[in-house]
Amino acid sequence: MPAVPAPLPADEAERLAALHRLRVLDTLPEQVYDDIVHLASQICGTPIGLVTLIDGERQWFKARVGLAAPQTHRDTAFCAHAIVGDDPLLIVEDAALDARFVDNPLVTGDPHIRFYAGAPIVTADGHALGTVCVVDTEPRRISAAQARSLQALARQTTALLELRLRTIISEEQAEALERIGAQAREERRRSAEMLELVLRGGNLGLWDLHVPTGRFQASPRECEMLGYDAAAAQQLPWRALLHPDDRATVDRAILTHLAGDTAYCQIEHRMRHRDGRWIWVLSHAVIAERSADGRPLRIVGTHLDMTERKVAQQALEDSQRRLRLITDNLPALVAHVDREQRYRFLNGYIQRTHGTDIGTALGRTMREVRGEALYVQLQPHVEAALRGEPAAFVYTDTVDGRALQYQSNYIPDIDAAGLVQGFYAMTFDITELRETQVRLEQLARVDPLTGLPNRRQFEERIVQSMARSRRSNQPMAVMFLDIDHFKSINDSLGHAGGDAVLCEVARRLRDSVRVTDTVARLAGDEFVLLLEGVAGPADVDALADKVIASIRPAFVVAGIARSVTTSAGVAVYNGDALDAPALLAQADAALYRAKQRGRDRYAMA
Ligand code: GH3
Ligand code: MG
Repeated sequence: MPAVPAPLPADEAERLAALHRLRVLDTLPEQVYDDIVHLASQICGTPIGLVTLIDGERQWFKARVGLAAPQTHRDTAFCAHAIVGDDPLLIVEDAALDARFVDNPLVTGDPHIRFYAGAPIVTADGHALGTVCVVDTEPRRISAAQARSLQALARQTTALLELRLRTIISEEQAEALERIGAQAREERRRSAEMLELVLRGGNLGLWDLHVPTGRFQASPRECEMLGYDAAAAQQLPWRALLHPDDRATVDRAILTHLAGDTAYCQIEHRMRHRDGRWIWVLSHAVIAERSADGRPLRIVGTHLDMTERKVAQQALEDSQRRLRLITDNLPALVAHVDREQRYRFLNGYIQRTHGTDIGTALGRTMREVRGEALYVQLQPHVEAALRGEPAAFVYTDTVDGRALQYQSNYIPDIDAAGLVQGFYAMTFDITELRETQVRLEQLARVDPLTGLPNRRQFEERIVQSMARSRRSNQPMAVMFLDIDHFKSINDSLGHAGGDAVLCEVARRLRDSVRVTDTVARLAGDEFVLLLEGVAGPADVDALADKVIASIRPAFVVAGIARSVTTSAGVAVYNGDALDAPALLAQADAALYRAKQRGRDRYAMA
């Protein structure tokens, strides 16, 4: 027959947790527990005494006397019954008479239990973990005093186990503390490593200033930056290394920071390298420690060597200044315009000519700076340049009410990747050049002595006159004139006197014809008249007479009166198929005849 297993206590799960928390199961024997079982068996006069602990499936003996087995199955354990309910003691006087145990193999077989008395070991939380019990192979009773003693031993055992628990807890706490400490140490080590990396990677020198004493400590990199070896780290004369011109600025920045006005202090200044040269550093500093009354005790900071950057920056500024000096004095507008059509560079030219403030114009668009009216003229070329096509064009800009002409060249600014970043603009004022050109052109077509059209202009005009004549179906006449005996005039009046005669002839010829008619001087004393809209031969005769007559009145040159005559040949054009040289040749031939016929007259072709 199987044993009757004890019911599970109501707090079984928590009870087991409390038991396992003690980590006492399967530990080696301990004298103090052995003493308890000896006391129990002696007090009760039994051969067997036990400290049992009820595990999930078994009862395990922490201490035992009179019994060889280290544990039994929980189902056969008397103690499993003892820990159920609130009884302070379970006494089985004769197991053979008790229905719960009569078939128990520990009763029917080894060790042949007949008597059992067990006092539960109950924790402060009320969990019964096991018992202190005594067992006999004979049925018997125990006195009330023995029962109290057994309970007292159970309480002692509880106290021992609780002591064990406290030891465990404090050990665990110590372990946890140790772990936290180790973690903190690891973190400190790591952050120190990180700091080192940052400082090294950023090429930063680290320094530490003790404010009350002025003691300055420097990291190896800081020492290296200033040209000292690491041994000097403790005694660098910080203030003496500052550039004299920077001391006031540094002091001001630090004082501002000390006064609490800035979160940290940042400043660029120079420090003397051991070899005497000055290095530029970017300094960051912060108060690392204050005294109890708030005064700064330590300032720590970093130094970044900026010398190379400064030198490069200086070189760039120098070259820009040189470039500006050169371009500012060029008689041309030089500009760089970016992709957004904003001026990125402008020389001083536009300031001189237009009064445009360069500082204000930089960063603004061409449309804003040059004005809408002018921009409309520039826009197509701007767009071409931004497409990567060079542009060259002339535009007009009105400055102080004067229309000025400009010649612009746009050169696309193409970067290494082939992208258009903007364009360079070079613009010249060509107003004067243009005016000179016009004047020169004019000069080339005018006789400088008389102001009359010269041969070149005459050749253009005769072609135009003939064309008009054909269109209007109105004849025109060409009258070829030559002064009679001009050589003798020159001889008597001198060359200047001859010139004065030529000018007067020119004036008289002009006055004899309509303003729309052309009077030109072909060469020497040869003149030619283009007479448009002549009605018929009678009209031409009248005109020719009038012209010849206009020269007859005496010329007064330098107080001397002198008579001058001319001869002329006249050819009429009726829209015939002949060209200008042929028409002129006809007039010339007629002139020849007029000369032959005695001069001071005209002849018709
Ligand atoms: P003719 O009646 O046959 O025309 O005789 P001419 O003396 O007028 O002879 P011709 O027309 O062949 O000579 C023109 C002269 O005009 C020759 C030259 O010395 C003179 N002459 C040419 N150009 C100028 C000029 O610009 N100024 C002056 N003062 N004399 C000039
Ligand atoms: Mg002549």
